[in-house]
Amino acid sequence: MLIVQKYGGTSVGSLERIEEVAKRVAKAKDAGNDVVVVVSAMSGETNKLIGYAKHFSKNPPKREMDLLLSSGERVTSSLLSIALQAKGYNSVALTGRQAGIYTDDLHTTARIDSIDSNKIKEHLDNDEIVVVAGFQGVTSSGEVSTLGRGGSDLSAVAIAGALRADLCEIYTDVDGVYTTDPRIEPKAKKLDIISYDEMLELASLGAKVLQNRSVELAKKLDVTLVTRSSFNDNEGTLITKEENIMEKPLVSGIALDKNQARVTLRGVKDEPGIAAKIFNRLAKENINVDMIIQNVGLDGVTNLGFTVPENELSDAKSVMSKLNASELIEFDPNIVKVSVVGVGMQSHSGVASKAFDTLAKENINIQMISTSEIKVSMVVDEKYGELAVRALHSAYNLDK
Ligand code: ADP
Ligand code: ASP
Ligand code: MG
Repeated sequence: MLIVQKYGGTSVGSLERIEEVAKRVAKAKDAGNDVVVVVSAMSGETNKLIGYAKHFSKNPPKREMDLLLSSGERVTSSLLSIALQAKGYNSVALTGRQAGIYTDDLHTTARIDSIDSNKIKEHLDNDEIVVVAGFQGVTSSGEVSTLGRGGSDLSAVAIAGALRADLCEIYTDVDGVYTTDPRIEPKAKKLDIISYDEMLELASLGAKVLQNRSVELAKKLDVTLVTRSSFNDNEGTLITKEENIMEKPLVSGIALDKNQARVTLRGVKDEPGIAAKIFNRLAKENINVDMIIQNVGLDGVTNLGFTVPENELSDAKSVMSKLNASELIEFDPNIVKVSVVGVGMQSHSGVASKAFDTLAKENINIQMISTSEIKVSMVVDEKYGELAVRALHSAYNLDK
């Protein structure tokens, strides 16, 4: 088999951990597989480097940030390859560029355009274990780029897709995908199997166990994806097509996204073109607007509210200040988004009302709501986020 294994930050968080990972990789190789390994930076390393940059500048240049941040993954890939060779294995460490990962030129959030998999294949043909630095690529003009936070998952899936690997294993610090973050609700249960679409919703709505773009790509390229722990040999979670899943649960999981902020405009003129003007400006600055609420106008004015990622709030503020609006604008970073996700919702009614009931019983005020076929999302005060997750987890019987 051809296996791509990805190890996250905690899994390679110390020299002892890298040694453990080397043993696990060696075992897969000894079993007769071709093995490509993708590694993250040691845990905390990327944040540390961001902190260094912020020491000099509030808004450091993105090209330099990419060069800086890509170094974390280069450290772990080289160390792992050194550890493997010390054990007598043939291996080679590659940067994103050396692995043939080509991206667009949107520094810090680059998208992968193509992968020249011949470079990795040549090494595999030489019977080498290939260790790739995750989270990075190269632009067409030869600049180093990075793929956004959590991007090593995306590197692994993209490489697995390009090589048509038999399996892509994402090794992390939990046993797999749970019904909710086990650090918030210890009663959370590990799922044996989940569909790409549900996983994509969970990941997009805050469950960082898999980066959302990696799930999207796995679905598109039909990559067999498994998440599991690098700390034990327990079976992980298979992420697969919906048709491979026999019993479809009503609700698969609850997600909490803390990286959210709310912007509210009061006394907006209720006339055509207002929403277009505001959201066009935000889009131009690459600000990701998510939930939007507008009331029915009264006396020619209305209120308009929306959410943006918390780390884009300062950009949103500067866009709004340039609008010269007469409205009252409120910015609230102290909110979170709690979401209930499940493919079974499509064919059942009452799922949303149960969520509202549950939060009402806990006296948690819902500030915004948005629904789709397979999810219900609610914005609540940050203080109540974890309480809301636990209450919903129990209301949908996910701890049973
Ligand atoms: P890595 O460094 O291996 O990429 P991450 O920290 O990015 O790991 O993701 C793993 C973490 O995701 C877990 O430690 C857990 O706290 C969190 N998490 C959030 N939601 C879930 C979920 N539904 N199932 C499992 N883990 C989750
Ligand atoms: N090191 C990067 C981050 O912390 C990428 C990753 O770990 O996947 O976001
Ligand atoms: Mg991660």
